[in-house]
Amino acid sequence: MSRLAVLGGTPVRHDRAWPRWPQHDAATEQEVVAAIRSGRWAISWPSDGAKARERRFAEEWARYNDVPYCVSVDHGSSALLVALEALDVGPGDEVVVPAMTWVAPVTAVLRCGALPVLVDVDPRTGCATAESVRAGLSERTKAVIVVHLGATVADLDGILAVTEQAGVPLVEDCAQAHGARWRGRAVGALGAVGVFSFQNGKVLAGGEGGAVITKDVELYRRAQQLRADSRRYPDEEVPAGVMELIEAGEVMGANYCMSELSAAVLLDQLPRLDAQHRHREKVAAELERGLAELGGFEPIPVPPQAERRSIYEYGILFEEGTFGAVPATRVAEAVSAELGLAVYPPDAPLNRSLMLRPHTKRRFAEIWTAEGRARAVGRDYSGAEKFAESALLFHHGALLGDPADAADVVAALAKVRDHHAEL
Ligand SMILES: *Cc1c(COP(=O)(O)O)cnc(C)c1O
Repeated sequence: MSRLAVLGGTPVRHDRAWPRWPQHDAATEQEVVAAIRSGRWAISWPSDGAKARERRFAEEWARYNDVPYCVSVDHGSSALLVALEALDVGPGDEVVVPAMTWVAPVTAVLRCGALPVLVDVDPRTGCATAESVRAGLSERTKAVIVVHLGATVADLDGILAVTEQAGVPLVEDCAQAHGARWRGRAVGALGAVGVFSFQNGKVLAGGEGGAVITKDVELYRRAQQLRADSRRYPDEEVPAGVMELIEAGEVMGANYCMSELSAAVLLDQLPRLDAQHRHREKVAAELERGLAELGGFEPIPVPPQAERRSIYEYGILFEEGTFGAVPATRVAEAVSAELGLAVYPPDAPLNRSLMLRPHTKRRFAEIWTAEGRARAVGRDYSGAEKFAESALLFHHGALLGDPADAADVVAALAKVRDHHAEL
């Protein structure tokens, strides 16, 4: 038995680098240089005669997702806030949020002055379920946020049935699911609003950035104003030298506008997205063949209604006891050392996350009273705990190389497992 790399042995993979993310080339540089030379670095600046890049990107992103409307914003976090504000979420309201996700959806609810109500997730996918969403509803529920986590899609049929019956709008957080499709439609297009992040690590990256998509023209008008200090695009074309935003004042906004430089990067990146999806699936198929042969491991399941997933973090489930009593964090360290690649367990569920500390900010502390806190995080999160203890994740960039890379992942899992089996 060869020694584990964490114990000083030779790693499974030591002679080849992993692909780099993000992917860029001379065309990316040209787009950014053109944006710089235009002198127009923000939507809020006189037009150079062409449509703003953030507006062009919004149109392209709407088209990609088969929806009529999209508003570009500066972060996925802002997209969540704008979506909730467009739906008129405010003080006294509750919003259902899955316990297993990045902290941003919860923060966005608090920023509206509303109470996030954390609900449990499916232990095999980390996504909220129809039952967990139903259990989180109350007469105060103003919206439900669902997150399509990692490389899967939440059960949109079941969850939409629950939210529609309750008459509550669904916000789809697609920050980890660009391009995933559910029964013929793009995720984000099934709920009232879909939100995206284009942060550096996401499947579509622009450094920082986000977007809100919707089919509803009223939500579109509101979202535009919420992100541009109560201004929206004019109805007419804008000649050079004139502002491409007009004061509308139907709803008070703030500034969450996407920079023109980020939009330039995104305009370069978007046409590459589908080929990257196909590439990742090719390598993932190799990996899944290897996992099936190895036994005891399987990919995080994808519901059959999702005819395309989007791999943001690839997740591998392992059976209880595979690594003896060793916790997932230590297993992940050992596998990472074999691969020279960051492999990690899911984040801690938000109910016990160090990032969720509303009492440290006065504005949030007012919401996070003893009663509020009990309503927000006082449930059973055993599904989330199970998920956190039985999955290993790695970043999608690792799937953009040679399909033979998959064999290294399988070999590393086998080596670490066999080591622990021998103990
Ligand atoms: C990344 C992410 C966000 C936040 O996006 P930012 O652009 O970093 O603000 C929100 N929700 C989920 C699920 C994410 O993964």
